[in-house]
Amino acid sequence: MTWDILGQEAITSLLERSLARGRLSQAYLLVGPAGVGKTTLATTLAAALNCQGEHPPCRTCLQCRRILGGLHADVAVLALQEPERELGIGRIRELQRSLNLQPFEGRCRVAIIREAERLSHEAANALLKTLEEPPPEVVLVLTTTAEEEVLPTIRSRCQRLLLHPVPRAELLRFLQEDRGVPAATAQRLAAYSGGCPGRALRALAEPQLLEADVPLLERLTAILEGDTALRLTEGGRITGGFTGQRERALQALECWRNWWRDLLLVQAGCREGLAYPQEVASYARYTQRWEASATREALGCLQQAIQHLERNANPRLVMDVLVLRLPHPRSTSAPG
Ligand SMILES: [Zn+2]
Repeated sequence: MTWDILGQEAITSLLERSLARGRLSQAYLLVGPAGVGKTTLATTLAAALNCQGEHPPCRTCLQCRRILGGLHADVAVLALQEPERELGIGRIRELQRSLNLQPFEGRCRVAIIREAERLSHEAANALLKTLEEPPPEVVLVLTTTAEEEVLPTIRSRCQRLLLHPVPRAELLRFLQEDRGVPAATAQRLAAYSGGCPGRALRALAEPQLLEADVPLLERLTAILEGDTALRLTEGGRITGGFTGQRERALQALECWRNWWRDLLLVQAGCREGLAYPQEVASYARYTQRWEASATREALGCLQQAIQHLERNANPRLVMDVLVLRLPHPRSTSAPG
């Protein structure tokens, strides 16, 4: 059997056992950060369910190859398409019609619904009916980065599988041995990825992503040193313009969250596994200025801001609130 999912052995062996006993659930909720491998796992599960080999998923039979190649007629992937902000009821109704049909080329229909937290209220309620009485030969796999925003009635009808970030050593081995990435680049990618292989691979394909953080870190320093007016101006530079504010703001906040997490590590006396090792001098400086409690509070503010953005709050407003809440030069903790 070849699940070939980095760092998720506990889950894949559980699925393997359920599959062998014919005890798979008809609905799963895969929970974990973006890029950790939720969709890959869902697709591989779909292959395992339809595999014709002796040890599913064999990855080599026609069913496996068509599913893993994204070509199989019985495996549907529902995802937000820009500029959609939510998965509407139309998309769910369309899916439900196809789920009521016999499998077309395989044994089992699988619907993968990505970002389940973005289902509209109506869509979620329509989906509930399918979760309550799924047609035979149908398995639903929902994925989410924000479990608490998925309707509780949906959550309670799914078996929950939590995907953890991949340990650094394992990610490094994968990048160097399987992908032939030089050691120094692998270190940077692993730090950037936060344990999410999908993020690492994306930055490998688009190295400018690694560089994109440099101006964001400079902006963060300007904000931390600035007064109220300057903070708002600097924040506004990220959310200004008419398009893409949300994406730009999220990118900035994720970068800043890595920076604050680094600072917390340094404050705890640890210098291993920093996302931005080049910032170590500024971490030393800020360690003099703020207690670890202020750092933790700032991390909390960032976390909250990211959640608000993911819930489609106004990017400009989220950014304004955040830059004012980050610790000020003379304070020992974040106000508000
Ligand atoms: Zn197969």
